[in-house]
Amino acid sequence: MIHFVGAGSGGADLITVRGARLLGEANQIIYAGSLVNPEVLQYKSEGCKVLDSASMTLEEVVAAMKEGEARNWQTVRLHTGDPSLYGAIREQMDQLDEAGIPYDVTPGVSSFCGAAAALRAEYTLPDVSQSVIITRMEGRTPVPEGEKLRKMASHGCTMVLFLSTGLLERAQEELMAGGYAPDTPAAIVYKATWPDERVFRCTVSTLAQTARENHITKTALITVGGFLGTEYDRSKLYDPAFTHGFRAGTGQ
Ligand code: SAH
Repeated sequence: MIHFVGAGSGGADLITVRGARLLGEANQIIYAGSLVNPEVLQYKSEGCKVLDSASMTLEEVVAAMKEGEARNWQTVRLHTGDPSLYGAIREQMDQLDEAGIPYDVTPGVSSFCGAAAALRAEYTLPDVSQSVIITRMEGRTPVPEGEKLRKMASHGCTMVLFLSTGLLERAQEELMAGGYAPDTPAAIVYKATWPDERVFRCTVSTLAQTARENHITKTALITVGGFLGTEYDRSKLYDPAFTHGFRAGTGQ
């Protein structure tokens, strides 16, 4: 059996209880060493085989899984954050399906959640934004025509950019061309939830400069939008005048 497990965004104690248990039961762990905090491996049992997939191809990863299966092992495939975002798990699952090898998925704390915690921010503020766009700047991996950054920016909502730290000159141009005012608040969150986490608050027009000045080139998320500002409306849910299924309000 193969268990895809989200390791969480960095802090070793952010893995789920289920994820930690699966690590403890694993005979083999294949972890994404470029981004997963190796401290998470503290949950493994003695004698467990550990492979770092950073230098492996898809074929090599799947071969290791098949070898584990032949030995009747439990294999954990450990991905950073939550495996469903930029995790390249679909191609692994398809190959496992072809080989008739069973698998399951355990979610993890994605770095975009870790970044909100680092910022002490709420992405969805009443009257500011009720949507979060998770996307990336086009780089070597193409982005479908309908999802170009400029188009996505036209919504003006909360936006989180993965995998874009090295492309910030172009990204900030696209964000502004799409409609964000140059002084729209923005933040770069480096290694959210890791011990060396850092937060840089800036504006859309100063994203590239801020990254350059602070030597941030990778392992960072770019967040953009009015949610980083000071203006918002109170929620209806906790408004004394508002009635809902669990509470009678004082209003009409
Ligand atoms: N599945 C992961 C994302 C993998 S893509 C998740 O859910 O978080 C890798 C990109 O995620 C990095 O280039 C960076 O943009 C972002 N990233 C991953 N961990 C991060 C962290 N702790 N802090 C900030 N960004 C992070």
